[in-house]
Amino acid sequence: MQHRELNEIAPPGQLTLDATIDCWAATTTMQHNRRQFLTAASLALSYGLITRLVVSQERKGTRVILLGTKGGPRVGESGRSNPSTLILINDVPYVVDCGYGTTRQLLAVGVPLNRLRYVFITHHHSDHNLEYGPLFYNAWITGLPVRVDAYGPPGLELMTRDFFNYMKFDIDTRIVDEGRPDPRRLISAHDFNKQGVVLVNDDVKVSACLVRHPPIKQAYAYRFDARDRSVVISGDTAYAPELAEFAKGADVLVHEVMYLPGIEALIKRLPNATRLRAHLLAAHTAPEDVGRIAAQAGVKTLVLSHFVPGDDLSITDNQWAQDVRKHFKGQIIVGKDLMEI
Ligand SMILES: [Zn+2]
Ligand SMILES: [Zn+2]
Repeated sequence: MQHRELNEIAPPGQLTLDATIDCWAATTTMQHNRRQFLTAASLALSYGLITRLVVSQERKGTRVILLGTKGGPRVGESGRSNPSTLILINDVPYVVDCGYGTTRQLLAVGVPLNRLRYVFITHHHSDHNLEYGPLFYNAWITGLPVRVDAYGPPGLELMTRDFFNYMKFDIDTRIVDEGRPDPRRLISAHDFNKQGVVLVNDDVKVSACLVRHPPIKQAYAYRFDARDRSVVISGDTAYAPELAEFAKGADVLVHEVMYLPGIEALIKRLPNATRLRAHLLAAHTAPEDVGRIAAQAGVKTLVLSHFVPGDDLSITDNQWAQDVRKHFKGQIIVGKDLMEI
């Protein structure tokens, strides 16, 4: 088990090829790989992200990287981006949720955007889908060579079509003017409306479990069973014993968490959000209950993510974890953006 902080800031001169070039060599030539790196690096630089990219010694296996850990739709200044989790299986990216900032976070961990292949949306709150269309657009404009498959609750197919209408002028212009392929043929959106197996390929079986996130009825957790590891992402949910059953024996459970004293402080800062308190309590999980779920599931490692509130810097890691520990005796990781588990 390894987890590393990947968000160390490197001086510009240290953004070197040798630290990054070995990420994505499996199926490409060295020349192509160098071009991919340069594209990613120049985009990262153009976004002002002077960030050390992921150093990957081994290309096989299953890696989990937290891209965005701040629950809720507000874009904060806390150092936490909006929700998204990356699972790399044999170097193929599986992106779970597309909160605002997902594109930039993928670049920050050294994933070239044109390597996008699979996207999973847990539910249609905007902190989970706001950048769904733009992420695909950014992959297309970076030279996406293969089709992207996207999975989510009902509404995803419509949202995909609506996004292309929203961007119709630009897309149609670039197809003619720049000779680009039609992006509408490069994505397949798949709605599903019941739990069960969502995807099976040579590397992984992905299944979904209905969770409790009122008033949204179609909210799911995902489980990735790869050859070497099993990883469960809770999505947004209130305490849900069925999730513990779904996560049984997983190596890693990434679970959302809500800190009640922080909620009270949050409500005070948002005078118009009179219903927000009731929504949060009904739709999210307190630390003690997160511990119960992890213990019932018997997972090895519990990762806290989707922090609510996610931009209150006065809440310490220990405060997030202390009530979890009452029930769960395994490894607890208080998630940070760009952390690898
Ligand atoms: Zn959320
Ligand atoms: Zn939600």
